[in-house]
Amino acid sequence: MISETPRVRFAPSPTGYLHVGGLRTALFNYLFAKKNSGKFILRIEDTDRSRYVEGAVENLINALKWAELQFDEGPDIGGSFGPYFQSQRLDIYRKHADELLQKGKAYYCFCSPERLKALKEEQEKQKLPQAKYDKHCLSISPEEIENKIKTGQPFVIRLNVEPDQIIQFDDIVRGHVEFESNNVDDQVLIKSDGYPTYHLANVVDDHLMKITHVIRGEEWLSSTPKHVLLYDVFGWERPLFAHLPLLLNPDRSKLSKRQGDVAVEDYRDKGFLKEALLNFVALLGWNAGDDQEFYYLDELIEKFSLDRVNKSGAVFDLQKLNWLNAEHLRKKSNSELLLLLKDEISKSQFKDRYFPDEYLLRVIESMKERVSFVRDLINNCKYFYEPPQEYEQKAIEKNWKPETPDQLKKLAEEFSKLTNPTKEDYENSFIKVSEELGVGKGKIIHPLRLAVSGQSTGPGMFDLLFIIGKNEVIKRIVTAIENIKPL
Ligand code: GLU
Repeated sequence: MISETPRVRFAPSPTGYLHVGGLRTALFNYLFAKKNSGKFILRIEDTDRSRYVEGAVENLINALKWAELQFDEGPDIGGSFGPYFQSQRLDIYRKHADELLQKGKAYYCFCSPERLKALKEEQEKQKLPQAKYDKHCLSISPEEIENKIKTGQPFVIRLNVEPDQIIQFDDIVRGHVEFESNNVDDQVLIKSDGYPTYHLANVVDDHLMKITHVIRGEEWLSSTPKHVLLYDVFGWERPLFAHLPLLLNPDRSKLSKRQGDVAVEDYRDKGFLKEALLNFVALLGWNAGDDQEFYYLDELIEKFSLDRVNKSGAVFDLQKLNWLNAEHLRKKSNSELLLLLKDEISKSQFKDRYFPDEYLLRVIESMKERVSFVRDLINNCKYFYEPPQEYEQKAIEKNWKPETPDQLKKLAEEFSKLTNPTKEDYENSFIKVSEELGVGKGKIIHPLRLAVSGQSTGPGMFDLLFIIGKNEVIKRIVTAIENIKPL
């Protein structure tokens, strides 16, 4: 089987959004497929009608598209093994359940919810390790079954799990795994609404879609013995399994909504770059065996292998994500950043204002090393987009002296003599004025920055003046002198 072209799948149940753990599963499947010249399939597991959420499938596909994890077969694009929505494959599951009924490997169960509840309570009282169905309906005669079905009695179809067996399989990540069949319930395969359960649909589809490797989160490890049993009773070859480690909060509890965002869409909306998010989730349970943390997708494909996936839980460290975002942002070309910045501007308070590309490129150049998010190219330096709306109080207290207005006036006069000044021209004028006044450069540079930007920190002073432009700089100095009152 391994020598075949690998076929892997991401098989989410649409819950309304794409969980970051789901993105990690999708990514590992994608990387494995690309690395091994295989196929990556998207299958939507939407058979739980009680969980149906309007728009969930679209959200999920959009989030995957945003991350650019392009699948080779799946919804929208099709493929030879479709349909790729389980809700469109109900006949297939029923047919397979019937096959097991005929083989005596599955049976009808007519137990009422009340009986099942009472059974569970009784087993809990007896402190049995886990509640299990008691095979009550296994002994119903064929005639009785026919009769009950004819008279419209609701039923489910259950797998007849043979007791006293050891169920074993080798997991690529976790090694050899064993379960006792006595601990495995006679799982429902077809529910009373005629829909298959996850277990049946998942196994039937993985087989029919010729999936070679099942790569999924560790939370499905405990379902795997049930799946293995199904492969065996159908007489099918099992795929290989790889269960990815759990995602943990920094306090090592299971990653939960309560401690932060878990939806990929939230990270996208907060302005994280897809490259950074993918890089980040790639490191959740995998490393290449060295200290490298910064990766582009191409390099991940080249280096990825399932043997290097760890067993132990992977801590979701937001600081690392922030760092990776800044790194990816810095490594982008200015022209790439220009597109992203223009998109941000179109969503910002400055959306109705026009800024020439050349101007924005200068802003990018001066700020790139100082920001972590594209939107910081606006929010951390609004002074590039509008005159200061206020002046940093602490900087006034520290740097705005009674003599400052006169000093800045002199500077403005000197600037006004320049034609098309370069950075160096500003610097020369500045040196000249500070010498004439006989004051240290620091005495004027801080108030100058405050007057022009309203802030006490930012890019190099002369870059700032150059980008903002002579007339605007002079205007801002005049406004600041009028408005800033030393304390
Ligand atoms: N539908 C399951 C989920 O929502 C799929 C688990 C599996 O990959 O087998 O994650």
